[in-house]
Amino acid sequence: MMQQIRDTVDSIAKKQDISPDELHLLLTAEDSGGLEYLREKARACADAIYGDRIFTRGLIEFTNYCRNDCLYCGIRKSNGNAQRYRLTSEEILECCREGRELGFRTFVLQGGEDPYFNDDRVCEIVSRIRAEFPDCAITLSIGEKTRESYQRYFDAGADRYLLRHETADENQYRKLHPRTMSLTRRKQCLYDLKEIGYQVGCGFMVGSPGQTTETLYEDLQFIRQLQPHMVGIGPFISQHDTPFAQEESGTLDQTLRLLSIIRLIHPHVLLPATTALGTIHPLGREMGIQAGGNVVMPNLSPVSVRKKYELYDNKICTGDEAAECRHCLEGRMHRIGYRIVVDRGDYQP
Ligand code: SAM
Repeated sequence: MMQQIRDTVDSIAKKQDISPDELHLLLTAEDSGGLEYLREKARACADAIYGDRIFTRGLIEFTNYCRNDCLYCGIRKSNGNAQRYRLTSEEILECCREGRELGFRTFVLQGGEDPYFNDDRVCEIVSRIRAEFPDCAITLSIGEKTRESYQRYFDAGADRYLLRHETADENQYRKLHPRTMSLTRRKQCLYDLKEIGYQVGCGFMVGSPGQTTETLYEDLQFIRQLQPHMVGIGPFISQHDTPFAQEESGTLDQTLRLLSIIRLIHPHVLLPATTALGTIHPLGREMGIQAGGNVVMPNLSPVSVRKKYELYDNKICTGDEAAECRHCLEGRMHRIGYRIVVDRGDYQP
């Protein structure tokens, strides 16, 4: 069995692709030696490109208002129990100032799809960050917009955009989203962003209700087609005020296997060990790096709003100041032989 897994790992690394049978084998294998080989091979692949350097991004969760109603998400519009908030431009800039002092050279502005932040307001914020922090990358993660809007943000100074595709399978997409949302549109957004010139990140949750090896295979094929610069994956974690409150969460083990597989089929990708991974296991982020990740995204949002950006239950680090998060992660990476660098952390082709 172990030899079969090793051969499969070597084969997917060589062709930078995976077949449905190979995926099935790697997601169901129980042989610990074989799984160790998968992890080691993925880690060696990341080491060969990025060395012991781990890139960091300061995450600023600037609004939890959302016009969408994704069934899994704690800030969906139908959640009447969510305490809604918005940061002001000045508060966002203050987060960036603190972040830059702490060594961040990328800021990720993430939020629900909040109509208050129309294009003029987004551009105003992006231009102010661009003017004050010319050496920093600005990443937006604010959902589906028109191509014209994406172009305006880009012209204002945004460099990168994160938009998880969530699932590349039409039926699975329907299970996770209301009828008003469409996978075709979401994919089109990603292609538009890429064409405009953004560094683009797609991604999905691992273990979302209804997900199968077949739907995951489609996710991997979509990654191969899009050739994104970043891929964000983390476990689905149920949130008590959503229709998926009673659903099982995704597992650490499956997330780690998929991180390794993604590293091997798309070697240069920027691959975060996410907060969700750190939420389902105390050493989840460390294990994510050891499985092939090369990015961590600590929170820079003001502590006063952190608990309110509750996408899922028991999210970690909601009480810690930005500096504490930064130093904590530095220690965590150091203990496994890696170092967080002061760098924009661009994709290395
Ligand atoms: N509104 C933007 C968008 O749609 O891309 C960005 C914010 S959205 C809350 C960020 C990501 O959170 C989603 O892409 C989704 O994958 C993740 N997320 C939402 N609910 C989650 C849950 N219950 N468990 C794990 N991840 C979740």
